[in-house]
Amino acid sequence: MSLAKKSAVITGSTSGIGLACARALAKEGANVAINGFGPAEDIEKERAAIEAEFGVRCVYDPADMSKPEEIAAMIAAVEKAFGSVDIVVNNAGIQFVSPIEEFPIEKWNQILAINLSSAFHTIRAATPGMKARKWGRIINTASAHSLVASPFKAAYVAAKHGLVGLTKVAALELATFGVTANCISPGYVWTPLVEKQIPDTMKARNLTKEQVINDVLLAAQPTKQFVTVDQVAAAVVFLCSDAASQITGANISMDGGWTAA
Ligand code: NAD
Repeated sequence: MSLAKKSAVITGSTSGIGLACARALAKEGANVAINGFGPAEDIEKERAAIEAEFGVRCVYDPADMSKPEEIAAMIAAVEKAFGSVDIVVNNAGIQFVSPIEEFPIEKWNQILAINLSSAFHTIRAATPGMKARKWGRIINTASAHSLVASPFKAAYVAAKHGLVGLTKVAALELATFGVTANCISPGYVWTPLVEKQIPDTMKARNLTKEQVINDVLLAAQPTKQFVTVDQVAAAVVFLCSDAASQITGANISMDGGWTAA
């Protein structure tokens, strides 16, 4: 229980990578605040399960990561509920795929707001407390797309590259305060979202499940295996440990070799 007495906010944690991170931090003893969208009864089930399984406190905050004032209010509310915000995992993110000349302006603005600016707003709100307590961990879920591009993902790639820059600035400013800031950059992660695409793609392209996985989804991933949400969560837990106190300003790839090519 290495994180007992610590409190964590994980944005976009009602599903996928964020939920796995929240559960992993709770397993280490941290009180956790989950955030994101979804059916109220599903979110309550996940929240209650975290408290029951790990014996920590878990609150849900519905802040919309595209709204700066809701983000600031969330950090303040969690500080009030738990006494501190020691760990922030900036994980909320969305995708939209379109050629640049047709890319809807509102989608560009929304992706930049949720995938990049929300991290600025959480960091801005949480750092005074972290600096005062001389301990903090800022962990941003970036992507292989923080290092390389793919066509038709202008906003996502720009936001993820920007997130790496923001992380480096935070790392430098906070270096003498016991606060680290890092990115984790997964390749394709096995989530229900990915799993659900497989039958449709099999049908549409007349391919086997193996062909869809190897030649379509994992075309860029040399290991031909998905990253798992638990692997990302384990890296988050490691970055919160004392062993990781000198890792700051880093962008840790977890992409099966994608960006080595
Ligand atoms: P997901 O769709 O399962 O989870 C996204 C979460 O963000 C959900 O909880 C959702 O409710 C929340 N969210 C969306 N818009 C929000 C908003 N405006 N305010 C608050 N919450 C909001 O996706 P995931 O695959 O778990 O992705 C999580 C992060 O990991 C994202 O930043 C994504 O870019 C990144 N990532 C994912 C993959 C992958 O292959 N799945 C790869 C690399 C990086």
